[in-house]
Amino acid sequence: MSAWHSARLVGRREQSRTGRTLLFDVPGWPGHLAGQHVDVRLSADDGYRAVRSYSLAAPARGTGIELGVQTVPGGEVSPYLAHELPVGAEVEVRGPLGGWFVWRPGQEDPVLLVAGGCGIVPLMGMVRSHRLEGSRAPMRLVYSVRDPGQVWYREELTTGTGAAAASRILYTRQAPPGSSRPPGHIGAGDLLPPEGAGRLPVLCFVCGPTGFVEHAAGLLSAAGHAPDRIRTERFG
Ligand SMILES: Cc1cc2nc3c(=O)[nH]c(=O)nc-3n(C[C@H](O)[C@H](O)[C@H](O)COP(=O)(O)OP(=O)(O)OC[C@H]3O[C@@H](n4cnc5c(N)ncnc54)[C@H](O)[C@@H]3O)c2cc1C
Repeated sequence: MSAWHSARLVGRREQSRTGRTLLFDVPGWPGHLAGQHVDVRLSADDGYRAVRSYSLAAPARGTGIELGVQTVPGGEVSPYLAHELPVGAEVEVRGPLGGWFVWRPGQEDPVLLVAGGCGIVPLMGMVRSHRLEGSRAPMRLVYSVRDPGQVWYREELTTGTGAAAASRILYTRQAPPGSSRPPGHIGAGDLLPPEGAGRLPVLCFVCGPTGFVEHAAGLLSAAGHAPDRIRTERFG
C-alpha cells in the first residue's frame, strides 16, 4: 500500500455551483496514470479521521495534482473539501491508486469515455493526458449532466481542439436554448464509437453515480462491446 503524503491546498476553482477543482502540492509525488485516484485523509484535533477517494483530473505537473470534488448534501467530507478547507491548509493523500480504470498514453485502441456528473473527473484526466501526449488513438467523450450549469471544464471541452473537440455534452433535465437533442437520459444512439475507430474494438470507460454507470454499461454491452472492454468506476 502506498505511503501517505502531506498535501497543501494551493488553489480552488469553481466548476459548478456545487463542484470545485482543488489543486494540491504534494512533495515527493511519484506521478500517476490517467484514471487513477487518491485517498484523501482529514484529521481533526481530537484524533478523529475521515478518508475518502478522489480521482486525479489531470496529468501531474511536477508535484502538483488536481482533484475535482462534487458536494454531496449532508456529506461528511465533500462539502468541507469543496468549500471550506482554506488555501494553504494541509491534508494527507495516499496514492496513486487503481490499475484497471486507467488509460496509458501508449495505447492505440479507440477510446469511448462516458461520464455522468462528477464522473467526468477521471475521464478529464484521460482527455488531458491524450492531448498532452499527442496521442493518435481515436477518443470520444460523451458527458451527461442535468443542466448547463452542471458542466465542468466547459471552456476546455467546448473550445478545444482534438480530443476535447470530440466531446458531446448531453442534458438530462434542461438543455441549452437551440439544442438539437431534447433533454433525456443517455441512449444507445448517444454512445457511438469515436470517429476513425473503423471496425477496431473500442475500449470504453464509464464513470459516475452507480445508476448511471449500470445504465450506460448495459447500453454498451447491448451494442456488442465485450465485457472486458467496458471499464467502470462508481462514485456512490
Ligand atoms: C474510486 C473512487 C473515486 C472517486 N472520485 C471522486 C471524485 O473525483 N470526485 C468526487 O466528488 N467524488 C469522488 N468519489 C466519491 C467520494 O469518495 C465520496 O464518496 C463523496 O465525496 C462523498 O463523501 P462525503 O464524505 O461527502 O459523504 P458521506 O458522508 O460519505 O455520505 C453522505 C451520504 O451521501 C451518500 N453518498 C456518498 N457518496 C455519494 C455520491 N458520490 N453521490 C451521492 N450520494 C453519495 C452516502 O450514502 C450517505 O448517505 C470517488 C469514489 C471512489 C470510490
